[in-house]
Amino acid sequence: MSAFGGKADAPHGVFYEYTPYLNETARLIVGVAGMVKQNEAAIELWRQIFATLANAEDATLVDADYNPTEDEARFREGFAQAGWSEEETQFRLDLLRKQEAGAPVTSPGVSPHVEFLFGLLCDDIEAAMERLHIESHGRVARGIEPRAGPLAANTNVVMTDEGIITVGSFLFRFCGLIARAFTRTLHRAPTFWESANYSHDLARAYVRDDPKLVAYWLRIFLSFSTTGTHVMVPFQPAKRHELVVFEQVARAMEIFAIAHEYGHHHLDHGRRIEDDPKLDEFSADQFALKISYEVERKPILMPNPYLSSGAGGVILLLALETLNGIREVITRISIAPSVTHPDVDARLLQFDSVSVLKPQEFVALRAFRIASTRIMKTVQSVLLELTNAMPPDAHKLLRALSEA
Ligand SMILES: [Zn+2]
Repeated sequence: MSAFGGKADAPHGVFYEYTPYLNETARLIVGVAGMVKQNEAAIELWRQIFATLANAEDATLVDADYNPTEDEARFREGFAQAGWSEEETQFRLDLLRKQEAGAPVTSPGVSPHVEFLFGLLCDDIEAAMERLHIESHGRVARGIEPRAGPLAANTNVVMTDEGIITVGSFLFRFCGLIARAFTRTLHRAPTFWESANYSHDLARAYVRDDPKLVAYWLRIFLSFSTTGTHVMVPFQPAKRHELVVFEQVARAMEIFAIAHEYGHHHLDHGRRIEDDPKLDEFSADQFALKISYEVERKPILMPNPYLSSGAGGVILLLALETLNGIREVITRISIAPSVTHPDVDARLLQFDSVSVLKPQEFVALRAFRIASTRIMKTVQSVLLELTNAMPPDAHKLLRALSEA
């Protein structure tokens, strides 16, 4: 079977029908049972850090005068446009409310939906660590940073071996939108991206021939590069035939991002001055790949090759690189080569060194990473060309937006 084909055409409705079942039972099956945490210092430090962040003027907390009915109308309209029935939409809405009601509260005032997602992803990662007999997650506290931008971080608690794993309020939005646009791009030419007669020029033509798709990608990156949020992107839920790949890609990106930070904590990064921060990035990536693969050894419903192959990490890293590139064009401030982070190509090269016992499986998984790299690099080249070609006035306007 082709690495990409098939999945998108999985029996319609099945995944959808089982979404609630998935989310609810996933925790029961893989939930971390009986693990005694030693994270009091981390919890206390997070309380202090969060209080400071939440006091900032631009803290991304849920407004006190937030009106959920307005959101609900937008939600219904979006799902109707994507071809979902009223019953299906109601089902999703009820599920969402249920998830929000049961969400943990690590960071009072942030979106309960973000808390819910983060809790689920961390639980999956920690369960995978447990199966691998890695116990460092017992010394980790979790938190949501009330800040814009697609962030994830590990903060060491000095004098202890505890750490705080955090994500920004908009990381999951970013991953969700990239996953949606990625799925649409993949479906432009499902078999082409991994075919032997792939060419970069042909790939660019495929993307450029769909102005709506290009506009969607551009809005995502312009919105995040100027505001750190999705505010400029229209709400367009996945269509039925896109749902499986969309959810797989988003989950794979999110698991990779968070597991990478667990890796920094587990490997004691940032605690010794003599350490090379660039090498630390490579080893945190390797940790994230190992965890992604292990999470996937207990698939929730159907196999997610974006997760087991590390393609989610490929998509995330290249998306962040594109975001930086576009920000550079708009702000005209070139980001100097980082002293702490190796460039993305160097990091992706290391993905191939991940040890997989079965060579056949390695080839299949690698095909996913190659196709994902091709898609993201094509999008990057088309978008950077477009942004560079914008008139100076447009750049000025975007700069003003980013400074507002
Ligand atoms: Zn890192």
